[in-house]
Amino acid sequence: MEECGELPYQIDLRLAISSLKGIGAKKVVVQLPDGLKKFGAAIARCLQEGLGEAEILIHADSVFGSCDLQHGQLWATVRPDAIVHIGHSPYPVEIAHEELEPRGSRVIYVPALSKLAVTKEAVRAAGDLLRSHGAREVAVVTTAQHTHMVREIQRQLEEEGIRAVVPRGLQPFFSDGQVIGCDYRVARGVKADAYLYYGGGIFHPLGLYLATFRPVVKLDPYEDKATDITPVGEKTYRIRLLKVAESFQLDRWGIFVGVKTGQYRPWLIRLLTEEMRKRGKKYLLISSENLTLQSLVAVDNEWFQAFSVTSCPRIPTDDHWEYVKPVLTPGETIMALRGELEPYRFPW
Ligand code: SF4
Repeated sequence: MEECGELPYQIDLRLAISSLKGIGAKKVVVQLPDGLKKFGAAIARCLQEGLGEAEILIHADSVFGSCDLQHGQLWATVRPDAIVHIGHSPYPVEIAHEELEPRGSRVIYVPALSKLAVTKEAVRAAGDLLRSHGAREVAVVTTAQHTHMVREIQRQLEEEGIRAVVPRGLQPFFSDGQVIGCDYRVARGVKADAYLYYGGGIFHPLGLYLATFRPVVKLDPYEDKATDITPVGEKTYRIRLLKVAESFQLDRWGIFVGVKTGQYRPWLIRLLTEEMRKRGKKYLLISSENLTLQSLVAVDNEWFQAFSVTSCPRIPTDDHWEYVKPVLTPGETIMALRGELEPYRFPW
């Protein structure tokens, strides 16, 4: 069984099945990002076929990344022998807490590689946008589901006369060229004067701009289209600076502490609380698993003047940027406490 059914993603379960057999797994939970959940039934059937009698459960709740294994709840109740986590790579342990790997059951990561590609016309359009920024050397970055395409995109850009590099992956977590929404170290570490982001949506390329301040062009295999993300990045940056400036004189803070497996960051909470104490600021810690607008409104009252979110740094920039009080990332909180508008710190 090389692939699992007729899916638009290559999902090879052979290694997972042999590991699961190796540990004698009797109960297995399959986790998928929302966009892949509809393939959960086919994947569960493939696993069942390979494992015989084992009990397979498809996890229906949202799983935003490998920061979000929800192992605590699963272990407290279902107690699986293993979690098969499809479509994300392991979360870098140094930006989470020390016990990221769960006790009691293991996590097996299975890539889901998109079968989409782009036409030459879309690559040419991306090349034109990059040239309009005067880019001489471009770095190609992407997310987990397109990492197998980065060398091909590099080659196609070079055919268009653009010098392209692929940043080395952050081992053992990321493949070459790979970024996630809260970790752009590999992109930042490469010499390039612009980025070609290969993938869909705005989430990752916007984060890439905020982390690098270099032009970002998106080459989208879902729409077969190139888009310049730079203006959106510039606008978001201006909004973020405004939020930081609004927080300079504020004294009473709420610090959100993440409850999800990879979003609990004691090192960061220590950093922020020490900085606040040093500067005579007051704070209250608030634990939260999913920081929705509803839960933010529910906990807010006149005591709080601003909030800092240590769980996912994209909650302030992408979800609650219009909130009536400043909601800042950890990096922005440090800037606000120190009264600095530069350098912009993103995400941590
Ligand atoms: S950006 Fe947020 S959801 Fe995505 S991996 Fe990072 S912490 Fe998790």
